Amino acid sequence: MSKYIFITGGVVSSVGKGITAASIGTILKSRQITVSVQKLDPYLNVDPGTMSPYQHGEVFVTQDGAETDLDLGNYERFIDVNLTAESNVTSGQIYSAVIAKERRGDFLGGTIQVVPHVTNEIKERFKRLAQKSQAEVVIIEVGGTVGDIEGQPFLEAIRQMRNDVGRDNVLYIHVTLLPYLTSTQELKTKPTQHSVNELRRIGIQPDIIICRSDYPISEGIRDKISQFCDVDKQAVIPLPTVSTIYEVPLVLEEEGLGQLIVDKLSLKPRQTDLSQWQELVRCLKEPREPVNIALVGKYVELKDSYFSVREALCHAALYYNRDINLIWVHSEDLERDGSEALLRSAQGIIVPGGFGVRGIEGMIKAASYARNNEIPYLGLCLGMHVMVIEFARYALGSTKPNSTEFDSSTPYPVIYLLPEQREIENKGGTMRLGNYPCQLVDGSHAANAYGDSLVYERHRHRFEFNNEFRNLLQEAGMVYSGLSPDGRLVEVCELANHPWMVSCQFHPEFGSRPGHPHPLFRDFIGVSKKILREGAQPPLLPT
Ligand code: GLN
Repeated sequence: MSKYIFITGGVVSSVGKGITAASIGTILKSRQITVSVQKLDPYLNVDPGTMSPYQHGEVFVTQDGAETDLDLGNYERFIDVNLTAESNVTSGQIYSAVIAKERRGDFLGGTIQVVPHVTNEIKERFKRLAQKSQAEVVIIEVGGTVGDIEGQPFLEAIRQMRNDVGRDNVLYIHVTLLPYLTSTQELKTKPTQHSVNELRRIGIQPDIIICRSDYPISEGIRDKISQFCDVDKQAVIPLPTVSTIYEVPLVLEEEGLGQLIVDKLSLKPRQTDLSQWQELVRCLKEPREPVNIALVGKYVELKDSYFSVREALCHAALYYNRDINLIWVHSEDLERDGSEALLRSAQGIIVPGGFGVRGIEGMIKAASYARNNEIPYLGLCLGMHVMVIEFARYALGSTKPNSTEFDSSTPYPVIYLLPEQREIENKGGTMRLGNYPCQLVDGSHAANAYGDSLVYERHRHRFEFNNEFRNLLQEAGMVYSGLSPDGRLVEVCELANHPWMVSCQFHPEFGSRPGHPHPLFRDFIGVSKKILREGAQPPLLPT
């Protein structure tokens, strides 16, 4: 039977609860303990697929096609597993399921209530993941902070689990923030005490408290939290801010968290091996020569919108012992200020995914700049649409080619909706989602990168390359280097007369892991690092 670790958050959100949950996965996995992870999101949306990136950050896509919280990306990268739809549960899913059961008559005669019907449905999801994954430990992160109205049924469900599966099989970890007061120059524990009180009020006594802070945490502070929150002193774990998220598992292990979890859950003691992780962090902390990469997007004000893209770039750069100097370019600024001003120092240009017409012309300018100046370009989903539109405008000598997503009456719809997508009216969960196969063409940049001919990659889009324009663009120099195995869909395209201009209809960023960069990102950085731009020249050797 699986054991459960429930992670709650207190004081404020965004203190790194997701990274902490992922890191606990890393330290358990380093002891050869099998783990699975689940994120509970208390909002009423069924999934984040219809939410604006400004609200939610990136939408992470699992191989089986679920649109999920970006924390799942961190779990995958930290634990090196491919998760499934079961790993993200929202209130929207829970209530839909309960109401569907009620309509079916499953509860005939009963009054449907939050306790027990909603809480039973939630617990059902915990057990389903445990059953399916057969993991020794299931780590479950409750989104939001204790005290949120929407979170109450989730907290009640995790409280009940202690009785359902037995005390030795459940562990509660609370992650809080210790704010620093500049006037008195001290860290304050009171908000932590309050959030622990709030947890206790609903019947949960945390076993372990992880304290986030931007400053070192003294023994005195640990004593105080231990005493006021009734937690063993060694179970008050300090987690000061570190320079790279990948260091968090090492800090937690150093503070004894791995052993504490093994003891408290009565797991079999096993040898820990975090050597690969230590090596990764050592390399990340060394000064490395940067590669200037411009990320041209429309949501750049909120960096979390491109979380996996950023991580994938970092993994790829590390492969060459390089760092990424990411130049954030708002595509609307490109429309106003011109390409040279904003892209002058870029050694490579990346155009990631996105939806809607805003900022599209700026992205097209970026693709045109990359093509004309032989700057390496990587287009991800929308970035491929942009590259195709730009190339069609050049090949046809017209400004009219477009995607029907942005101009429904264009005479040259080079990107369009597939006939089977046209009848779909519901917006949620109706895109082409998850893993699909892609056959690569020998000798292409894409095939060279993968070193393979058949690959599976994650998709999230409605619009596709329009095959009516295949020949025309091919004659002008476009290469279709990846196709669906039936040859119907263009999955990867690249330019023949360019050092490296490659775009894909899928999202390779979701598959990149520290230590295993995604092949397309790796080769993109591999060529970009050789490009010399203004401000990026190597220093002159002393004479
Ligand atoms: N908006 C485009 C589509 O729906 C691209 C989506 C994306 O970049 N993920 O096809």
